[in-house]
Amino acid sequence: MIWRAPSLPEPREGPVLFIDRDGVIIADQDYLSDPAGVELLPGVPCALRAAAAAGYALVGISNQSGLGRGRFGPAELAAVMRRVDEALAEAGAGLDAMYYCPHAPADGCRCRKPGPGLLEEAASAFRWDAGRSWVIGDKASDVELGRRHGLGAVLVATGYGAGEATLVRTSRAADPRVRYAADLAAAVAEVLADGSPPGSARR
Ligand SMILES: [Mg+2]
Ligand SMILES: [Zn+2]
Repeated sequence: MIWRAPSLPEPREGPVLFIDRDGVIIADQDYLSDPAGVELLPGVPCALRAAAAAGYALVGISNQSGLGRGRFGPAELAAVMRRVDEALAEAGAGLDAMYYCPHAPADGCRCRKPGPGLLEEAASAFRWDAGRSWVIGDKASDVELGRRHGLGAVLVATGYGAGEATLVRTSRAADPRVRYAADLAAAVAEVLADGSPPGSARR
């Protein structure tokens, strides 16, 4: 489902960072339903600004199974989503779009990560080069989504990430585009270092 997406005559071209919300952008609190609980993780606004300045589109992708499980309703989800946008804006940052899966795992939908549905929805507003685009998340399902679609993937240690690290160890050993970083800021730094055009000076 679309929470927010740009309406452009043509999809925006260029690399995309697909960024998980809970445990990456904001502190993960299981089934967060109160906007007062929205807490940006340290370094997030600065990292988003750096990625945007480097030309990446910033697209949030979030499993919100709390809806499908009946833990909260659409109004609570909307209030939290609005608060996330607002908190980022207050810090001088923002996402270009946000998509979410509202289903419970038992629904067997296409959009629950690592299903392809959220990327399919994003494809109507963004046209990305998979070789230069990345998924950043705190769960193995985020890494899996990236790997299935030829995107790079960074597991961050925030949120559930530290506990998921062993799950992606084999992928990391096998695939240079699977990375592990302390947090979103470190993940963005890795992506930007990786994305330097061939032959460009590195410092
Ligand atoms: Mg998460
Ligand atoms: Zn879904």
